[in-house]
Amino acid sequence: MANDETKYTTNDAGIPVSSDEHSLTVGPDGPILLQDHYLIEQMANFNRERIPERQPHAKGSGAFGHFEVTQDVSAYTKAALFQPGVKTDTLIRFSTVAGERGSPDTWRDPRGFALKFYTTEGNFDLVGNNTPVFFLRDPMKFQHFIRSQKRRADSGLRDHDMQWDFWTLSPESAHQVTWLMGDRGIPKTWRHMNGYSSHTYMWVNADGERFWVKYHFKTDQGIECLTQEEADRIAGEDADYHRRDLFNNIAEGNYPSWTLKVQIMPFKDAETYRFNPFDLTKVWPHGDYPVHEVGRLTLTRNPTDFHTEIEQAAFEPNSFVPGTGPSPDKMLLGRLFSYADAHRARLGVNYKQIPVNRPKSPVHSYSKDGAMRVENVSDPVYAPNSKGGPQADPQRYPEVATWNASGDFIRAAYTLRKDDDDFGQAGTLVREIMDDAQRDRLVSNVAGHLSKGVTEPVLERALEYWRNIDKETGDRIAKELGK
Ligand code: NDP
Repeated sequence: MANDETKYTTNDAGIPVSSDEHSLTVGPDGPILLQDHYLIEQMANFNRERIPERQPHAKGSGAFGHFEVTQDVSAYTKAALFQPGVKTDTLIRFSTVAGERGSPDTWRDPRGFALKFYTTEGNFDLVGNNTPVFFLRDPMKFQHFIRSQKRRADSGLRDHDMQWDFWTLSPESAHQVTWLMGDRGIPKTWRHMNGYSSHTYMWVNADGERFWVKYHFKTDQGIECLTQEEADRIAGEDADYHRRDLFNNIAEGNYPSWTLKVQIMPFKDAETYRFNPFDLTKVWPHGDYPVHEVGRLTLTRNPTDFHTEIEQAAFEPNSFVPGTGPSPDKMLLGRLFSYADAHRARLGVNYKQIPVNRPKSPVHSYSKDGAMRVENVSDPVYAPNSKGGPQADPQRYPEVATWNASGDFIRAAYTLRKDDDDFGQAGTLVREIMDDAQRDRLVSNVAGHLSKGVTEPVLERALEYWRNIDKETGDRIAKELGK
């Protein structure tokens, strides 16, 4: 029995209901009455509980925390969130890429590392991965790439033949595929991996000086990975292994943290650097551009409602606060459109009013109405106006995160520079970064992957692809496959 201290059930209108268990019927054995609005509300709500899953990055989870600046990088950016000592509330979402919403966390895949900083000058989002590079350098190929990693049209099955067909016909994928097939292709937990912006971005300081930057979030827990065998076993035992690990650790007060470091390239260097520094398939070698520490990201709070705080979280790399900006990286420029578009399709045009996406700084936009708008708009609803509405302030917020470009409208690859190629940095990773044991596991992982349904001529192309990365590694993979 409910009393004043106990919560009593209501319907969605707040009206108390008289039963949690019984429909309204004509006598105990009679038919159900159409006037049982509470039953209808329960059934109708349930039928609409699922929203479209993300395409891709459907499986994931996240947590809240803060980012605290520990060093002085004000010479490079005026962004409020990067000024010395500033502490900013943050949301993170980790994910796999190709798997669906219920897929195992330990499948080999890059991991998403998406951040939202609720800054004093609007939300700043960094939507990266646990790898510093990507498979492609032109957004025209992205849709095709993801389809090749997901499921076939006929059987609805994932298909290694399709994956390697795409990869080997897209040699710019070599660096990321090498990374993926190595140890770091399956992190032990989300806590034990790094996050990277992957793209190059821009920073602008208070004097209007511009710099190119790459963000590296280095795990303070140390890098730890799973072998293929461990990952396969865990996928069967606990599909939510990474989600559970994050939730439990935060619940127990074992707060994970990452140290943010940035590589900074003077604006002019980009014109003459030995390869295109905006090519997303390449890193900037640390020897050329060392990292500078900025601050620490710490996760301290779990979601209380997974759906409203994580499933409806919307991250978009186009959210640039003053002092930050994009770069000529074509993949980034494509993403600047596609993420917000995906949110409009998945969550509706007013997705930024969902509490988890709502800025904590004031919003004075001229957006109006639309499905599920919940915040009131006030007049005037147009600009320019003489009625006291908001006015853009170009003195305070000039459009400075820009660069010069000219040329005919064409469809073409980036202009090649001296050290631009598809296989060089992948080979460096194999020969100079991995040790013998890591190389052994790389060969075994690739041979195992290729042995599951990859057919000619794709298989022959895959061996050539690996010989181009590293001749010895390619030969060893061929040998394992009896080729
Ligand atoms: P460095 O020796 O200065 O840096 C090597 C980097 O490789 C470190 O950041 C290290 O990360 C990371 N690393 C170590 N083991 C592995 C592994 N098994 N798989 C993937 N990454 C690993 O060399 P360079 O900067 O000259 O780069 C050499 C190669 O290292 C590149 O071709 C690239 O493949 C890889 N790399 C480079 C990065 C960069 O931004 N320059 C970043 C990550 C990888 P950690 O410190 O966390 O151990």
